[in-house]
Amino acid sequence: MAILAALQQILPGRAFGPGDAEYEAGSSVFAGVGSPEAVVRPASADEVAAAVRAAAAHGTPIAVRSGGHGSEPIDGGLVIDLAELNTVSLGDGRLVTVGGGARWGDVAAALEPAGLGVSSGDTRDVGVGGLTLGGGIGWLVRQQGLTIDALRSAELVTAAGEVLQLDAEHHPELFWAIRGGGGSFGVVTSFTFEAVPADGLAGGHLRFAQTDAPAVLRAWREAVRSDEALNSTLLVFPPFSPEVPAGPMVAVARRGSEAELRDALAPLLALDSLEETALGPVAYSELLEDAPPGKPPFRFVGGNGFAPELDDALLEACLGALEGPAPTMLLLRTLGGAFGRVPADATAIAFRDAETFVVVNAVLPKDAPEDEVVALRARHDAVLSRLSGVYGNFSEERGEHVIRAMYPSETLARLRRIKAEADPQHLFRHGHAIAPA
Ligand SMILES: Cc1cc2nc3c(=O)[nH]c(=O)nc-3n(C[C@H](O)[C@H](O)[C@H](O)COP(=O)(O)OP(=O)(O)OC[C@H]3O[C@@H](n4cnc5c(N)ncnc54)[C@H](O)[C@@H]3O)c2cc1C
Repeated sequence: MAILAALQQILPGRAFGPGDAEYEAGSSVFAGVGSPEAVVRPASADEVAAAVRAAAAHGTPIAVRSGGHGSEPIDGGLVIDLAELNTVSLGDGRLVTVGGGARWGDVAAALEPAGLGVSSGDTRDVGVGGLTLGGGIGWLVRQQGLTIDALRSAELVTAAGEVLQLDAEHHPELFWAIRGGGGSFGVVTSFTFEAVPADGLAGGHLRFAQTDAPAVLRAWREAVRSDEALNSTLLVFPPFSPEVPAGPMVAVARRGSEAELRDALAPLLALDSLEETALGPVAYSELLEDAPPGKPPFRFVGGNGFAPELDDALLEACLGALEGPAPTMLLLRTLGGAFGRVPADATAIAFRDAETFVVVNAVLPKDAPEDEVVALRARHDAVLSRLSGVYGNFSEERGEHVIRAMYPSETLARLRRIKAEADPQHLFRHGHAIAPA
């Protein structure tokens, strides 16, 4: 019996195939529409476990859908869509338990009345599942570290269909693996985070003339180096779309008053090329933006990584990439602070000495000739060769070479050993899949 028919018997009313609205919703993610064999929408961890056991019995690979903002369409296999598991409950103290299918906008809205937040991404619609399991770089990164650094426990359905409670004392190896090792170890049905104060924020953005990128990059480095409380993203966009103004844009968030924020931004505010200033008090939930409706129809050629030091040579390489033959975008994001105080082996994201997260991407038409792509890669190597690792959540590329770049060899060997015990059949192989040792 096919997996769809089996699930319709085991979980009546919860399994869907082509033609069902739930199937269409479950098989479409930010990266595109896929064609899985079936979509199941369980309403509890036990139902997730029943679906996993059925998939294991059929040898059917499993992809999990949380917020659906991952970078890989889901083709074939079973989708476990966690849309029904989306509650956010703030318990005693600052512990907040979040369903594996909730989105970061839900979490921010639920925590706001208590003046709390969890370090997460910059976008409302992104799922708690995918972002957390891959690490999570967000607006509180210098106060709280990555999203995984705020994780205190989790509920995991294993490939054997067992429901386990993970924390530092219970199944500590699995708890370590899901903090940065991705979705290869089972289905996380709920996450419990320790929230931090996220009220009294000031934030906003500054925009600069397109020609002044060199001065903006230097002033940004000076500002973020002198104030650990300042969280910031610097984006330099090429002129490729009328909706997105070209030129350097600096987005900022800082706990404290607007006057303190302006002090922290003094090197940037002093630049003559400053064209737009929008700063003021802001709620944490307002920092999160809506995602674009889908992946833009371009081919992105480039990569990302963790910069141990944003030194002059790296700044020059970034500027060189911007001057390349194809429109190129550059993103720099502050790390350091709490991110850097977590030991490298405490989670699967090891590059804790990094000062800055860097993304460089040329934006090409989908059908760009291969020799153009190769030439651009060589140009971007000047940037990428100065970085450590790769952040999987921001990497569309797939394959063993990407996995080896994402993790230092000791980290990867440990992930593979844990995978071999937790999922020897390699059922969970969607995304940046860790193969068993
Ligand atoms: C517009 C946009 C903005 C972004 N901004 C940021 C940002 O600011 N910071 C940042 O760090 N990242 C950011 N990202 C990247 C984001 O973290 C990843 O794309 C992430 O995978 C999305 O998670 P999701 O749950 O929405 O995706 P999904 O497509 O639902 O899942 C992604 C992957 O994770 C697995 N997975 C998801 N949930 C579970 C679960 N509960 N148990 C087991 N496996 C699971 C899936 O099988 C899949 O392989 C952004 C992405 C987009 C598209």
